[in-house]
Amino acid sequence: MEVRFPFHYLLPRIFGIRQDRFHGDPSLLDSYRQRIKEPNDFVHWIMAAWCWDHYPVLIGGNTNPTGRFRRAPGDQGHLTVPPSSEHINTALDIILGPVLDAKDKWVLTIPRAVGHTATVEARALLSISGGAAIVLPMGIFGMVYVLNELVSELKAGRETHLSSKDTMFVKDNYAQIIAYLLLQREPENKDIPAFLMQLDQLRYTREPEKRGDIWSISTAQQLYVLLHELGHLVKTAPTNATGAERAMIAPHFSDENQEVDADSWAAGYLRRGRDRTEKWPYWLTVQVAMLILFGAMDLMRESGFMPGLSRDMIGTRLAIVLLSADNPSWPQSRYGSLGDRVLQMAREVLWGEA
Ligand SMILES: [Zn+2]
Repeated sequence: MEVRFPFHYLLPRIFGIRQDRFHGDPSLLDSYRQRIKEPNDFVHWIMAAWCWDHYPVLIGGNTNPTGRFRRAPGDQGHLTVPPSSEHINTALDIILGPVLDAKDKWVLTIPRAVGHTATVEARALLSISGGAAIVLPMGIFGMVYVLNELVSELKAGRETHLSSKDTMFVKDNYAQIIAYLLLQREPENKDIPAFLMQLDQLRYTREPEKRGDIWSISTAQQLYVLLHELGHLVKTAPTNATGAERAMIAPHFSDENQEVDADSWAAGYLRRGRDRTEKWPYWLTVQVAMLILFGAMDLMRESGFMPGLSRDMIGTRLAIVLLSADNPSWPQSRYGSLGDRVLQMAREVLWGEA
């Protein structure tokens, strides 16, 4: 919990000003940066930069101005520039701005920064005076593309760009690979970072259509992670805030009900997004994206990488993300009862079997 200058907290009460929602507080980002030591992980950094170089930032018609697909076809090599907070925020604003209801538009005034968090997790930083800021993990704008590439190659079957040896390597080490990508967990199999670096060769030969799919799916996951954090700010009154929370993909959830509330809010806006993808309808893309993301979490949980996270909870949350926007009156138990089924679907998508 951030304890800030107490008058911030007292003055509104003295003058009877109601504080029923958070206000943006960029200083929270500064104090976060001071407390969190940035990991010096070259592989993660370079992969974020390479993915950034190969995929446009986000849905919304705005493409990465420096991406390699805009350069001459024979131009090999990468621009080694990781995504900037400014680029990412602009892209997210362009998507969310037209979709948000007037009553919810204030969430766009909450400052956001991309951080080298120790794990791939977004965080809502809250202060006792009702200030808020959001940290978005750089991994969700880098490593998540790699995960979606792997899923795409596993699904491609005989047309995959992976050799059968590589496919076996992925399947044998899948949980470790995902934990490395999404949690930055040092893998037991020391060949994993080099293997993932070498996947970059595939990006030069990947069909534009396939790359478009990976981009769309990654974008939906990025959007979900941000919407989930914003959902916490909308659903929590400042007076009830209990401090900075670890969110999506975090090993510990502060309160399951808060997670469900945030997901329900996020699901409404995810469903409402617009069809900007070319090959698949928008909502199908989002569904696949959520099945991959939650499937990955469940595989990590099963392999002991996420203690404290239950299969029931992951299943309930996935069912809510997939179904609640269309069925707002369903009780939580109904989503819970569908958890097994949606996690089975998630597993099939993750392993390229669906
Ligand atoms: Zn959360």
